[in-house]
Amino acid sequence: MNAHQTKTVVTGGAGFIGSHLIERLLAAGDDVVTLDNMSTGDARNLDDAKAVSDSDDGGTLTIVDGSILDRQTLDQLIDGADRVFHLAAAVGVRLIVDEPLAGLRTNIHGTENVLDACLAHGAQLLLASTSEIYGKNTSDSLNEDSDRILGSPLLSRWTYAAAKGIDEAFAHAYFTEFGLSVSIVRLFNTVGPRQTGRYGMVVPQLVGQAMRGEPLTVYGDGMQTRCFSAVQDVVPAMIRIQENPETVGRAFNLGGAHEISIFELAERIIHLAGSESEIRLVPYEEAYSAGFEDMRRRVPDNSRARSVIGFEPTTSIDEIILGVMNYLSGRIPAVGA
Ligand code: UDP
Repeated sequence: MNAHQTKTVVTGGAGFIGSHLIERLLAAGDDVVTLDNMSTGDARNLDDAKAVSDSDDGGTLTIVDGSILDRQTLDQLIDGADRVFHLAAAVGVRLIVDEPLAGLRTNIHGTENVLDACLAHGAQLLLASTSEIYGKNTSDSLNEDSDRILGSPLLSRWTYAAAKGIDEAFAHAYFTEFGLSVSIVRLFNTVGPRQTGRYGMVVPQLVGQAMRGEPLTVYGDGMQTRCFSAVQDVVPAMIRIQENPETVGRAFNLGGAHEISIFELAERIIHLAGSESEIRLVPYEEAYSAGFEDMRRRVPDNSRARSVIGFEPTTSIDEIILGVMNYLSGRIPAVGA
């Protein structure tokens, strides 16, 4: 039982990760307000959250259609809030490459607005950042103090890493100079139901292609690797980090435990889908644009999150793929149907 009803604001709550987070918060009894401009989010992502809210023990859910660039709206929502989870951002390599200016504005000005509103109203903050900030550092395992190796800021791909790095620096300055209670999580290729392939994310993109019987588009030589993590492992860890006073002023990696090449990922997806699809290697310049740079490798060191909150990702890549497949099967007509 909650003696005090926690009031929690989630920016970007209609997005893939935000919607899972809100379900957990409501189930724990929080009253949740979400601010989302429905750009990459989708109101339908909150259907399950509404059901939790309608259940006997669930907190209330208020959905506000608006932007983190609107300071007045932010003030209204954060006034009286205990805590804020800031997930609203322009995300996805495809979106960032296609609309770099909008991405920069949302990801820098929007986050500054959220930080300032939290300070003004005494709310604690969890800032969702990204493994993308490590850039081209291909070390065996990236810890939170690892160097960032970024390409030219004139290549639009790097604007996301640049903006998120500024966000973290802003957050840290609000902590050191004003004492704002802010913790940072760096998410590594989080995957699960409700993620869309529309903005480039590889797992829903390839799973959708396999289910439709289309060729799986693997970019480059497919030997680049990632460590995919399941949303159901990451979201509870985000809440535990926000609730642990030891995390204030610090950043925490949250990533998957196993490294896999994108080619091997495509093979697993074809196998699990029982698909006849082929794998098609697509040059980066065809997939994105000339001069596009990818990361060859991105491996998290989760030991800080493990030692402070006991983070231990347990979902296998096959379970992750099957979860996405199960979700998409409700949306994609069967091959040949
Ligand atoms: N990728 C791919 N085919 C696709 C989409 C992505 O081969 O249809 C590759 C992409 O080039 C990258 C990896 O999959 O090497 C992960 O891409 P994603 O955009 O999901 O995440 P990020 O690049 O941010 O790790």
